Amino acid sequence: MCFIWKHPTLPHEEVSVETLSRLPGGFDNLNVSGGEPTLRKDLREIIDVVHPKARIVEISSNGLHWERLEPIIRKYPGIKVRFSLEGSEETNNRIRGEDNGYRTKVAGLRRLRELGGTDLGFACVIQDDNVDELTKLYEFCTEEGFEFATSALHNAFQFHKADNFPYDRLRVAREVENLITAMLRTNNAKTMFRAYLNLGLIRKILGQDRLIPCTAGTDFIFVDPWSDIYACNVRDDLLLGNLVRESWGEIIAGPAAVRMRGEVAACKQNCWMVTTARTAMRNSLIPQLPKTKPLLWVLRNKLRVTLGLPIDFERDIDYGDVRADVSVSRRDSYLGVTVKRLPQRASERHYPQGPFFNR
Ligand code: SF4
Repeated sequence: MCFIWKHPTLPHEEVSVETLSRLPGGFDNLNVSGGEPTLRKDLREIIDVVHPKARIVEISSNGLHWERLEPIIRKYPGIKVRFSLEGSEETNNRIRGEDNGYRTKVAGLRRLRELGGTDLGFACVIQDDNVDELTKLYEFCTEEGFEFATSALHNAFQFHKADNFPYDRLRVAREVENLITAMLRTNNAKTMFRAYLNLGLIRKILGQDRLIPCTAGTDFIFVDPWSDIYACNVRDDLLLGNLVRESWGEIIAGPAAVRMRGEVAACKQNCWMVTTARTAMRNSLIPQLPKTKPLLWVLRNKLRVTLGLPIDFERDIDYGDVRADVSVSRRDSYLGVTVKRLPQRASERHYPQGPFFNR
């Protein structure tokens, strides 16, 4: 579902700590992802530099080298850590091509909890192969005291992937309903708004329009491995500048940024990824609070679940409108398969997959 691993970058060409120090402060959320952030030998220095710049700093990792996060958790116990986990042991290892991935990352997250970590969790990409395990995985996380974040198959230049679509959209979408209902049974506000985020995922899975307009380039940006700044990680034509060659101020006020805002407003990509959707759900004046639409949905449906009534999914989702005009490629398991990887140089075209669409 993601081919970043097939396109490794050269460490000496990757965005440096010094370059990241040129980001301004005052971000609400800053996600250090990858590729795989624990492969960076200077991850501790990176976190030292970005930690003061954001209310929440997150590390998104595959969790296979969790021991490299130990010193970071000791120093910043409140830092948010999410490990990718796609289901039960067999399902996770097959989907992700990991020999012993499930056990490694479950043990790792428990260890980080012992060390004092307070915002730890798993992140799962919903797809045909794991959707019937979703609620169980969520319950496992709840029992363990871990968070459970979800996204759905997605195409993005960052992933080097342009053919990520569910095989059976309707089945996958219907299964997500069970997770939403389970999430609304809690009294945890964060989990209840995650239920709304999953409602958006149902629309994404069916190929329908977003629940809330995108705010790429205004409320969030993406920094790629070569210090290029994009409005988002999906469209490589929304390049705003480069943090080595330009200052932050020049990038966000430059002509590319002005042009980008019009492009984002008219963007027809059907994105709903956790970082971007979460941002779109936030109140523009007080980002800790939600917008009115998700707030009203949560209040209404929390009440229904509390009263033992089913959630009226048809109110937000047209199940008769299922996109069927894309060709779907098989997602093979790479478990036990050796693939030769060629490092990608800064001088080469970074994202050669050409135009594509999320539907
Ligand atoms: S909707 Fe368009 S601008 Fe927004 S994240 Fe997706 S591709 Fe980027």
